[in-house]
Amino acid sequence: LIAFDKLQRDLLNAYGPQHWWPGKDAFEIIVGALLVQRTTWRNVETALAGLSHQGLMTPAAMAKAELDTLERCIRSAGFFRSKASRLKRIATVLADEISIEELRQLPGDELRQALLALDGVGPETADSILLYAFERPVVVVDAYLRRLVQRLSGSRAPPSDRDLRLEISAAIDDAPRLNELHALVVAHGKAVCVSDPKCVECPLLPECRTGKKQSNS
Ligand code: SF4
Repeated sequence: LIAFDKLQRDLLNAYGPQHWWPGKDAFEIIVGALLVQRTTWRNVETALAGLSHQGLMTPAAMAKAELDTLERCIRSAGFFRSKASRLKRIATVLADEISIEELRQLPGDELRQALLALDGVGPETADSILLYAFERPVVVVDAYLRRLVQRLSGSRAPPSDRDLRLEISAAIDDAPRLNELHALVVAHGKAVCVSDPKCVECPLLPECRTGKKQSNS
């Protein structure tokens, strides 16, 4: 069993606060969460700057924008044709059907269903939006978290998403710490616990079964 509250503190001590999610408001966070699929955050930043520069960072403005204008603005984020169509459809829903403020009033399950109904929003993106745009205490399960927990516990198989959610929310139940945990797990997964892990320089080595096995072999 992993002590997730200690894991969060250890990662925070090692990497410091991550200040996620970079976005001025809920709409910008939603747009960023869509754009970051299958690309890096650096490419998304360029796309967000392009959208802001064109004054398109509101649902109403984006809904009215020409598709080719959106495509030009977000070209750096890759898959720009499908992403531009998705953004336009989502902006239209948020401008004409349900506003961000109305979404904010919904209870957690209803809000999640409303997000999942948006074009291109799958479970991981919905959870990121719930946590970062709407400050709901949600565990974001992604490939970095699954890999880290599997390695820490030394299991043959990755944990199920359901078990991860249950165990983590039993240990950490507030949005600010869940926000920080997700950001820290991603930072750790990109810097140290990479596909060929750098266990000798890992701050989690004393707690990690995989790391200890490797250093004893
Ligand atoms: S000790 Fe190695 S396997 Fe374990 S968390 Fe650190 S980098 Fe990953």
